Amino acid sequence: MASQLWAKLIPANAAFEIRESPGKGFGAFATKKIAARSCILRERPLFVIVMPWEVVGNDNVVDAYRSLGPQEQQIFQAMIAYETEKNGSEFRFPEYATMLRNKFSQPPCYEAMCVISSRLNHACLPNAACPIDEEADSGENISVAMFALRDIAEGEEITFNYNEDWAYMSTHIRRAAMRWAFECSCPVCHPNNPLQPISNMRRALLRGLRCLAYGEDLPPCAYLECPVTLRAMGPSPGGRNPRNWGMWYSLAGYIAEAEGLPELSLKMFERGFFHMQTAVGANLLEAHEWRTVAQWGEKSLEIGRTLPPECRSQASLVATQLSIMETLFYDPPVDNIERFAGMIQGAKLVEETQNAIRDFLFR
Ligand SMILES: [Zn+2]
Repeated sequence: MASQLWAKLIPANAAFEIRESPGKGFGAFATKKIAARSCILRERPLFVIVMPWEVVGNDNVVDAYRSLGPQEQQIFQAMIAYETEKNGSEFRFPEYATMLRNKFSQPPCYEAMCVISSRLNHACLPNAACPIDEEADSGENISVAMFALRDIAEGEEITFNYNEDWAYMSTHIRRAAMRWAFECSCPVCHPNNPLQPISNMRRALLRGLRCLAYGEDLPPCAYLECPVTLRAMGPSPGGRNPRNWGMWYSLAGYIAEAEGLPELSLKMFERGFFHMQTAVGANLLEAHEWRTVAQWGEKSLEIGRTLPPECRSQASLVATQLSIMETLFYDPPVDNIERFAGMIQGAKLVEETQNAIRDFLFR
């Protein structure tokens, strides 16, 4: 029954089908080769609940359901039947339980009930991505879109990462974090994977570097043990030296790239670039150091070119800042950092920014 429902709802030109995925319920499988960076699916949610900064409860889901037309209500009822069957027993709050298992949310803005996208399974090294729609914060015109991170072969299951936090966890911590939802059987989590120790080491390092750069660990949870690196080093040593930010972010970027997580790698290089570029602008670095900073900006653009445009919303800003830096520092070479910062932010704002950063770094 359920597969008939999805067969009816999937667009006619879709390059995938939804069928059973062993051990995971249903999953999406490519019916032909899908090229890297292409859009696999763009879905309008069945309904969207917009309650910024509030917790969505059962009553809200029931209200949203009641406001649907008869056809949409039928689809939601079919989803409830599918989830109930999968669960093996009746839910106490069937509408809410179904929403919980099929929603795409962008905290704190909205929760969207998606019928098709929610069939895609998780993988710790996914072949697709579901970037956040930066424009959609009002709840109207929200669409959930999936893009190929690399070429996907015919017959291959299409997967994406459900939770960025999991990228920073080694296998046993990840398993504990996921246990409320499912047991991941992707190749990275498979016990016979000979590369698992390397993957675990990379992810533990990523978590440590993230903690140093952000100044805080992942959100606290009972299953999160403190990695050895953090216990030994304490929180954010050297956090007031902008050169350290650059080092942590760029190391994290290279490690994420080696692990096969281009989205995360891009994010790290971009964050490193923007932090360091602010430090150059605020006169906290030597003028000649702009070249190192520029390298990270260029590296982020290089990784971005391998990703779908929707996954690299910061690329044009990075390119603009790079060209400003080049104009000021390279051709012709000048050492007036104030002028560079002034061009970007306006003189008064620069002074305030410099003072704020100095207060923060050297208080
Ligand atoms: Zn996995």
